[in-house]
Amino acid sequence: MPCEMCGKSVPFTKSVMIDGAKLEVCPECARFGDDYKASMSSQSSGRSTGSTGGSRTVIEQRLERREKRMGTKDVYAQAKTVEVVENYGKVVREAREAKGMDLDAFSKFISEKKGTIAKVEANRLVPDDKLVKKIEKALDVKLLETVLSGAGQSTGGNSSGKMTLGDFIKKK
Ligand SMILES: [Zn+2]
Repeated sequence: MPCEMCGKSVPFTKSVMIDGAKLEVCPECARFGDDYKASMSSQSSGRSTGSTGGSRTVIEQRLERREKRMGTKDVYAQAKTVEVVENYGKVVREAREAKGMDLDAFSKFISEKKGTIAKVEANRLVPDDKLVKKIEKALDVKLLETVLSGAGQSTGGNSSGKMTLGDFIKKK
């Protein structure tokens, strides 16, 4: 059975209450919620009154949670995920040109195939973690951004960290 929280396939799932929503989760995720039966018994008195409104809210919460889960498989990163910036190709190319390196020189500089870099710069190849780190270090750019999923996005926090110099200039 798939865990409704992390999506992992497990032989059996456990029913837990998480913020008022009942989820079938793997034992690993179960510790994030309250035991379903325990919650049920404590709620049982209020349940007969206003049950229609209450249950609809639970369903809405479940749907909302399911949507939030789509973007990530990491249960610890439900609120935010780290992704390569959308215009990474442009960021890489402009930073490389600013350093006065052509594709040849740059690919040699970071020991990658010229074709790989060309594809990255054309936005046709999303660099993997290792390559991202290499490029960020070599060109002094940021290729990763923290994406918050769900509502209430503008909490600030990490936003300054993902700004590249290019972004900063554009916003002026
Ligand atoms: Zn799980």
